[in-house]
Amino acid sequence: MERKELLYDGKEKQLYATDNPDQIIILYKDDASAYNGVKRTTIRNKGIINNRITELIYKELEKNGIHTHFIERLDQHNQLCRKTTIIPLEFIVRNVIAGSLTRRLDLDEGTVPENTIFEICLKNDTLRDPLINDHHAVAMKIVSYEELQELYSIVSHINRVLVTLFRQVNVIVVDFKIEFGRDANGKFLLADEISPDSARFWDSISKERLDKDRFRKDLGKLEESYTEIVNRLETLLSK
Ligand code: 5GP
Repeated sequence: MERKELLYDGKEKQLYATDNPDQIIILYKDDASAYNGVKRTTIRNKGIINNRITELIYKELEKNGIHTHFIERLDQHNQLCRKTTIIPLEFIVRNVIAGSLTRRLDLDEGTVPENTIFEICLKNDTLRDPLINDHHAVAMKIVSYEELQELYSIVSHINRVLVTLFRQVNVIVVDFKIEFGRDANGKFLLADEISPDSARFWDSISKERLDKDRFRKDLGKLEESYTEIVNRLETLLSK
């Protein structure tokens, strides 16, 4: 599959057209950014690792009946995906309190709520991706209430699959962010990526952070932590 023109140059990924109008190539960069691009660095091999982690996870989600944009990994940095129209919402799922929620609700990091917490944010760099609610999303004509119900049901299913998968490799899925697109028929497809960049993964015994918080909080051992996640998944899924 040949890479054609650059469609989008993001902070951590690039999107390219292909000779098939229904397919795109996503290039995973080694660049890392946090706090809406305020903090930036390059993490050796991050693109290769996140490309592989997303491949392993999306294949597992597909096996469990979740429709994703992923088609195949082409090489170390590139993957072939179905083209979608991205819905400008970020869905966040929280199984354990961490990150911005500790500040917003004044809760201790590591608290396990009795319920799973679902949030939506508006994808808008200028507004810095504000937290919104269902009524805002409907009022902005991004989705209908019925579509939101369907999306929350898919999001909840994805959470169950991820928690079960990562439990087998002794990792707690603390929280994660996902995005959806619509294909040409209007069907929802899980888009973007799921990786230590977009999720918080803690070792279930030591509670060591194996995700982007190591960069956000200057904890070091970034490449090692991302590698740990890919190695554990590969060991489990290649059995
Ligand atoms: P928080 O709101 O605590 O900062 O983030 C919650 C979860 O969503 C974390 O797993 C975080 O990595 C992910 N997340 C939130 N916003 C973004 C974003 O703009 N990009 C990425 N890649 N992940 C995000």
